[in-house]
Amino acid sequence: MKIVKFGGSSLACGETFQRVKEIVTADPTRTIVVVSAPGKRHSSDNKVTDLLYVCHAHLRYKVSFDDIWDDIASRYREIAATCGLSNNIEKYLDEVRAGMTRSASVDDIVSRGEYLNAILMAEYLGYEFVDAARWLHFDYDGSVDYEKTYESLRELHATYPRMVLPGFYGTLPDGRLHVFSRGGSDVTGALAAAALSAESYENWTDVSGIMMADPKIVENPKIISRITFSEMRELSYMGAEVLHQETVFPVRQANIPLYIKNTKAPDDPGTLIMETFEDENDEERTRFITGITGKKHYSIITISKTSMTDDISFVRRVLEITEKYNLTVEHIPSSVDSFSLVIATKALSNCLHALIADIQAECNPDSIRVCDGISLVAVVGRRMAGAPGVSGKIFATLGERGINIRMVEQGSDEINIIVGVQDADFTTTIQTLYNSFT
Ligand code: ASP
Repeated sequence: MKIVKFGGSSLACGETFQRVKEIVTADPTRTIVVVSAPGKRHSSDNKVTDLLYVCHAHLRYKVSFDDIWDDIASRYREIAATCGLSNNIEKYLDEVRAGMTRSASVDDIVSRGEYLNAILMAEYLGYEFVDAARWLHFDYDGSVDYEKTYESLRELHATYPRMVLPGFYGTLPDGRLHVFSRGGSDVTGALAAAALSAESYENWTDVSGIMMADPKIVENPKIISRITFSEMRELSYMGAEVLHQETVFPVRQANIPLYIKNTKAPDDPGTLIMETFEDENDEERTRFITGITGKKHYSIITISKTSMTDDISFVRRVLEITEKYNLTVEHIPSSVDSFSLVIATKALSNCLHALIADIQAECNPDSIRVCDGISLVAVVGRRMAGAPGVSGKIFATLGERGINIRMVEQGSDEINIIVGVQDADFTTTIQTLYNSFT
């Protein structure tokens, strides 16, 4: 059995619903379908979830939201009409509308986008609609109660072998609804896949897989055919927009292959994500790199002290101060008499002066220098491990292009090499590396 999750762009209107039905019915093992709320039909359109957040803001300030609601309702009416659904959509719309005015929480309101879409999709496919409130359980801190969630879905599956599940939300222990952060239907799909030990989890979207680089930076980047979970974690942490961050954990733990597929081009192979790959395909044999990504706007704080290495508590004392300010230190490059903290500039905006004053007072360094405007660019690839020459190629390529590298870091599992460059060189760095490795 396969879990298939469709994102908002695949469910934006009646026409895309029809495409989804073709995909689901083309494979009889696609028995569990997870849906997002309707997304954008074109670039200037609105996502239904965004409109629901706006409804909540209107309600909060007691401003009429009739126009926005009409917009939302018309989206579902169009889907029902185009797909010829007999279901009484007006009844569900009235119920949701009435629920919104009865002191509903923001999570109650924004979850309705998925709820209504799942009701329509269930009727369209002839599958059972199973409300996420019946099986996806959160703890009060917002973390998923895996055991309870998996058990509940297994029980429901025993009664309903073909289900449509709304993504994005579940319930807290007291029965109130709770939503994941944005894009959370990806996580719902992963939880369903893990609960039911699915053969695979197919995540259907509007691109034919994960791209080797950001298409806003590199023209027409190649699609990655196969990527490991670790590589994907590196790419998404370093800025690539792939799947919701939490998607990986449930499927990875259960060792379920995850596919990214394109609803508009269902025959494209897409990207396969797994824990490991035993072999290499032709493309992988010729290329060490899986992807290139990066993030802008970092600061490097360099702390110097002569004979720093003799003072064995020095680094710890500095890090205790960054901890006090709740700062994530991304990298700590070091030399004999100095080391640097690489921290997002935004995170330092309210505390930089206090942080420096504390380090000065408590650690007594010789100097502290701050350099802003740094970008971190990551080259990621599992095949770099043990392959000589990859870092040499990165440095040579950037050197030839006249790009100055401010910082270098390689994780010891050798699946990533990160370089720090000036923000002004960010785009050129990614383009140059992409061109030299493809
Ligand atoms: N509809 C929600 C959002 O727009 C959740 C999702 O689509 O995954 O963020």
